[in-house]
Amino acid sequence: MALFKCDKCGATKEGRCKPKNCPACKLADTMIKQDEAAGSCGCGCKKKK
Ligand SMILES: [Zn+2]
Repeated sequence: MALFKCDKCGATKEGRCKPKNCPACKLADTMIKQDEAAGSCGCGCKKKK
């Protein structure tokens, strides 16, 4: 599962695919995948400091 965050309102949603619309503000193409920015090391182990 990946975490997606709305660039406009900050709502988050988990899913396997990128949501087309934000579940909160309903805008399209505002959902940004958060996995890479969430502190994972890049190999998929999601190691956090
Ligand atoms: Zn939103």
